[in-house]
Amino acid sequence: MSIRIAIIGGGIAGATLANALVKHVHLDVHVYESAPEFSERGAGIGLSYLALGALETIIPSAIELFKKKAGAVAVGPARIVIGSGPNTGAIVSDISEDSGLAMNRAPLLKTLLESLPPKMLHANKKLSTVKQEDSGVVITFEDGSMESFDAVVGADGLFSTVRQAIVGVGFEATPAGWWDCRNLLPLDQVKARIGEESFEVDREFCWVGDEAFMMHAVVENGTKVQCIIAAMENDPPKTRKRSITRETLENALRKGWLGNPVATGMVELMLDQADPQAYSIWEHRSTPCYARGRLCIVGDAAHATSPWQGAGASLAVEDCVILGHLLGQVASVDTIEAAFRAFDIVRRPRCQGVIDTGLASGQLFCGQNPDVGLDSEKMGPAIGELYTDLDSLDITLHMEDASKQFKLL
Ligand SMILES: Cc1cc2nc3c(=O)[nH]c(=O)nc-3n(C[C@H](O)[C@H](O)[C@H](O)COP(=O)(O)OP(=O)(O)OC[C@H]3O[C@@H](n4cnc5c(N)ncnc54)[C@H](O)[C@@H]3O)c2cc1C
Repeated sequence: MSIRIAIIGGGIAGATLANALVKHVHLDVHVYESAPEFSERGAGIGLSYLALGALETIIPSAIELFKKKAGAVAVGPARIVIGSGPNTGAIVSDISEDSGLAMNRAPLLKTLLESLPPKMLHANKKLSTVKQEDSGVVITFEDGSMESFDAVVGADGLFSTVRQAIVGVGFEATPAGWWDCRNLLPLDQVKARIGEESFEVDREFCWVGDEAFMMHAVVENGTKVQCIIAAMENDPPKTRKRSITRETLENALRKGWLGNPVATGMVELMLDQADPQAYSIWEHRSTPCYARGRLCIVGDAAHATSPWQGAGASLAVEDCVILGHLLGQVASVDTIEAAFRAFDIVRRPRCQGVIDTGLASGQLFCGQNPDVGLDSEKMGPAIGELYTDLDSLDITLHMEDASKQFKLL
């Protein structure tokens, strides 16, 4: 008899896990998404070659597929520059290594979903409760319907309902200490505001400085520029999203930024939109476990991280490859718990490590590392150190380790 597994959430994590599980004929998998349709909106996203390589163990030729169907291109080189204070303009480092692929979220998700049988995808199904019983897990939806499964995996994002059923109260997502605002604008408009100099080299620019950070990256075949201002948030408001004004931006950049014409230009660019919004960056600072009984969480539901390492989606893909590998070895419902515990044992240190280095990266970029400050010569090596672990994981060994843990439990 097949083992019934529900995946809650049809974002990058849910869709990747469905791909990992669908090839195991002994698993009967269903994905439930709260939105009226399976879709992604918003900014582009980068996937590391590590995550892409892992993905190729479940979707052969994923890299070629993303290039062909999702318009994926190599992540471009970056220049890190001091943006505030007396060293404004000093180059910290030029990063050229080809670390992964960048693409838009919507075609990425579409590509992940298109090989899945439509009968396993259920849109407009918002999970409201999860209850573990002796015989399995009962889930109810906001529309009043109810289903029973042998196991449930929460891929339901930052404010996950499944997470709450696993870890209880006290481990909710909280503000990480920064907010950011963004605007996607035509190249000519950005050049007119911040000057041609920033476009003389073909790189994205990251401006690091006192209590804030700015980035501009040419995207969409050289036609548009993604502009971002991020700033430290010492007293976060209760809501993640709020309108911002010139005063908000100038206050964020008060510590030595406003003598930099790129910074004053970026302020204008942020205000060149109907209702400029800032979003607090939230994360899961600590999580005691990713699994309990027949429940497990993956992706942002397990380990939402600040964006400083650009790694949230890549971690989600790694999770799904490992969990798929483990659930593929589950021969009866009695061993599901062991598979989930093995997942927790191997994945939690990896993902928590990225959350921690993400915070350290944000502090470094905003001049808050006491040993580095805004010293352009010290900052380059310090940045390098914070990114070495990210891509050094050996996914084959990680899978073997997961299997070993599973067999021991
Ligand atoms: C602006 C920005 C830029 C980023 N850039 C990068 C990057 O370059 N590289 C990178 O690796 N990461 C990046 N990230 C992080 C990355 O986007 C996330 O880590 C990743 O999308 C997480 O995917 P997920 O599927 O776990 O969660 P989500 O994308 O949040 O998906 C969760 C899904 O669950 C559904 N859902 C929620 N609640 C319920 C419910 N009760 N019932 C049913 N369904 C539900 C939601 O509708 C959603 O579809 C970025 C994040 C942001 C905000």
